[in-house]
Amino acid sequence: MVSTCLAARATPAARSFAVFSANGQVLALSHRDRSYRALLEQADALDADGQPLVIISQLLLATPLPERAATTDLFHDAARAACVHGLRFYFLGATAENIEIAVAAISRQYPALQIAGWRNGYFREADEAAICAAIVAASTDVLWVGLGVPHQEAFVVRNRERLRGVGWIKTCGGLFDYFQP
Ligand code: UDP
Repeated sequence: MVSTCLAARATPAARSFAVFSANGQVLALSHRDRSYRALLEQADALDADGQPLVIISQLLLATPLPERAATTDLFHDAARAACVHGLRFYFLGATAENIEIAVAAISRQYPALQIAGWRNGYFREADEAAICAAIVAASTDVLWVGLGVPHQEAFVVRNRERLRGVGWIKTCGGLFDYFQP
């Protein structure tokens, strides 16, 4: 599934396909904060990053969600598919120390993965135009945005136009903090 989805490379001027994650925290926040809900509604797809959402869907929906899609698992499926299809990943988020550790660990685990670039997640809004220009200039196919909720969704929505040409954008919370040196 991931492999099939990633096989399609974006055309240079195409709008990115943005995938956000929903979990209990996200649903609670979207319930009490309308501006956050409006950000979520800008996603092209929303995955269920937690088993509680799957259980709730089984209780409430005629067609329940088939399974959860934990970003920590999804990342590895996507990395394997990207190695096969030659797609380029860019990593944005975490502290300067942790993003370096994550990139080193990912390079070790997936030597065939093309890493378009990376940047820590601590910057001013005024820097975002330059950051997005660098991401696009690096021929990024898949951008992983790990700035935490709700900053990452706000970043993606605010910069959607600047990120034209990036195939996929996936929010990933604290993903980069999970990798070990
Ligand atoms: N982060 C960041 N920039 C910020 C604030 C947070 O890059 O301005 C990073 C932080 O270093 C951590 C991630 O965002 O790696 C948030 O992790 P958390 O597990 O809290 O994510 P969430 O639960 O919101 O998905």
